[in-house]
Amino acid sequence: MNPFQYTRVTTPKAAISALTQESGTYFLAGGTNLIDLIKSEVVIPEKLVDINKLPLATIEKTATGLRIGAMAKNSAVADNQLVRKHFPLLAMALNAGASAQLRNMATVGGNMMQRTRCSYFYNTSMPCNKRSPVQAGPDKGQPNGPTGCGAIGGSNRMHAIFGASPKCIAVHPSDMCIALVALDATVNVSGPRGDRTIPFRDFHRLPGDTPQKDNTLLPGELILSVDLPTNRFADNSHYLKVRDRASYAFALVSVGVGLDLRKDTIQEARLAMGGVAHKPWRLTEAEAFLKGKPATEATFRQAAALAMQGAKGFGENDFKLTLAPNSIVEALTIATKTA
Ligand SMILES: Cc1cc2nc3c(=O)[nH]c(=O)nc-3n(C[C@H](O)[C@H](O)[C@H](O)COP(=O)(O)OP(=O)(O)OC[C@H]3O[C@@H](n4cnc5c(N)ncnc54)[C@H](O)[C@@H]3O)c2cc1C
Ligand code: SF4
Repeated sequence: MNPFQYTRVTTPKAAISALTQESGTYFLAGGTNLIDLIKSEVVIPEKLVDINKLPLATIEKTATGLRIGAMAKNSAVADNQLVRKHFPLLAMALNAGASAQLRNMATVGGNMMQRTRCSYFYNTSMPCNKRSPVQAGPDKGQPNGPTGCGAIGGSNRMHAIFGASPKCIAVHPSDMCIALVALDATVNVSGPRGDRTIPFRDFHRLPGDTPQKDNTLLPGELILSVDLPTNRFADNSHYLKVRDRASYAFALVSVGVGLDLRKDTIQEARLAMGGVAHKPWRLTEAEAFLKGKPATEATFRQAAALAMQGAKGFGENDFKLTLAPNSIVEALTIATKTA
C-alpha cells in the first residue's frame, strides 16, 4: 500500500496550481485507466487531483463547429444529438470502445490520455521502456521495473506496424481519438504558462527515443476541451473496428472514414487508423489520392496500397499487414453506402 494525498478542485486554475506544486501528482477524471495503473504499481502517485467537479462537461455549438468539454463522459458525447447528426463518425467510434459502464465513467480528456494496453507495460516484473525509461547515469531505469522492450521479439500480436522505434512498438488504444484525428479536431489546453491550442494530429506522438512520452502535453497542462470544425462527411462516415470479441476488446485494427461524395465522385476524404501506431494514424497520402476519384473498389484498393507503404510487422502481428488494407477497403465501401 502506497499512501497518497487526495484533493478535489472546482476550477481549472485550482487544478493547474495543485498539479504544479508537487511531482508525482496526477489529475483524476473517470479513473478507469489511472486507478488500474495505480493498482498495478505502474503509477505510484504522491497526490491525486480530482477534477470531476470542474465545469468542463458541456457540449455546445460554436461559430465554427462544436466544442466538447474535457470532462464530458464518453457516453454523453456518443448520445448527443449534435454529435450524432453532424459527427456520426465520433459517435460510432465512442460506441465501439470499452463497455457501456466504462463509457459512463470515462471522460474525453481521460480517453485522450489513456496509456497503451501493451501487457509488458502493465507488468512491473517485465522489461518496458515506456514504464521504466532508461535514465542517464549509473542508476538506469525507474523503481517500477526493468528497462527494455519485452514486446520486441516477444508477444506483439496487438502491436504497431507503423512509426515504431527500437525502443517501443506499442499502439495507442483509443477509438475516440481515431475519429477526432480524422475530423481535424483541435485541443484546447491550459497550464502554468497559459492557454494554447494543439492540432489533434500533433497531440499524440511517436515513441522515438522517449517512449515514456505519449503526447505533447507539457507538465502541468490540463485539457479543457476539444473543438470540431463543421464538415461535409456526416452522410458518408463509418468506423470499422476489428477485434477479438464483438465487445469489450481493444482494436486489432480500426479505420475511421469520412467522405464528401457527390454523384459517386469523392470530393474529399478523411481516413485514419487505430491499433497500428503509437498515435492515431492519419492516412493523408491515401486521402489525397481519393480526391476526385470515383468511389469504386478499384480506387479503394489503390488507396489502401498507398496507405500501407512503410508498414512493418514484428512477427505475431504480421497478420495486420493484410488485415489493415482489407479493413480500409471495407470501411470505405460501407461509408459510400451510409448516405
Ligand atoms: C476493461 C477496459 C476496456 C476498455 N476498452 C476500450 C476500448 O475498446 N476503446 C477505448 O478507446 N478505450 C477503452 N478503454 C479505455 C477507456 O476508454 C479509458 O480508460 C478512459 O477513456 C479513460 O478516461 P478516464 O476519464 O477514466 O481517465 P482517468 O483514468 O481518470 O485518467 C487517465 C489519464 O488521463 C489524465 N487526465 C484525465 N483528464 C485529464 C485532463 N482533462 N487533462 C489532462 N490530463 C487528464 C489522468 O491524469 C490520467 O493520467 C477500456 C478500459 C478498460 C478498463
Ligand atoms: S512495446 Fe512499448 S510499452 Fe510495450 S514493452 Fe515495449 S516499450 Fe513497453
